[in-house]
Amino acid sequence: MPSTVNKQRLLTQLLTILKKRYEPLEPESRPVLEQLLYAICREGTTRALADRAFHNLKERFFDWNEVRVSSPREIAEALGEVPQAGERAQRLISLLQEVFETTFSFDLDGLRKKGVKQAAKQLARYQATNDFVVSWVVQRSLDGHAVPLDSPSLRVLRRVGLVEGDDNNLEAIRSSLEHVVPKAKAPLLAELLSALADELCVEDEPRCGSCPLCAECPTGQEALRSPAALGRVNRPKPR
Ligand code: SF4
Repeated sequence: MPSTVNKQRLLTQLLTILKKRYEPLEPESRPVLEQLLYAICREGTTRALADRAFHNLKERFFDWNEVRVSSPREIAEALGEVPQAGERAQRLISLLQEVFETTFSFDLDGLRKKGVKQAAKQLARYQATNDFVVSWVVQRSLDGHAVPLDSPSLRVLRRVGLVEGDDNNLEAIRSSLEHVVPKAKAPLLAELLSALADELCVEDEPRCGSCPLCAECPTGQEALRSPAALGRVNRPKPR
């Protein structure tokens, strides 16, 4: 089991190596409500697709109230190529409806004054949010320390050994990771994991031979020694 020191070393290498390859843009600052809506577009997909989807929402609809009263089909069309656009459209509408019913506005910036813990608690009460969405907003708009984890990021973290075992307790995984990731590096880590998951560390047959992390990654090393191991990486364990 890697110690905290080893995890920190691995993390530093991961950040250094992947930053050279992907050079992600700085995180965009947005009002709290917009960051929430963006996070719903961003979960489980790439920054490029989420940026386009969010841009379309802002361009094609007059305001957030118009999004709230539009049909899920219209919203899904605006979301473009993001996967599960219909499901995301429904979540966006539900969230706007919940925010409107609880605040009679589309402004959540008052949460910034409540302190991170209290604000996160309030965001988590909305049915349309989840751990990823709340962590994203904590990190990007509330100046808190959080590492938002969606399934592509988790896949990479498990393969490189920064997350161990089959524990599915997302909150526990996230908080143990937050101990080894410095707050200032957390947004960069989120972008890099997402980019690697999309380009090389894909779900089926990761391209370990082309991956700059291969020398540091136990899964990559195993795959190079025995390509058949890749099948084992991806095959669900028998219960
Ligand atoms: S070496 Fe392979 S398994 Fe490891 S991070 Fe790269 S693509 Fe993923």
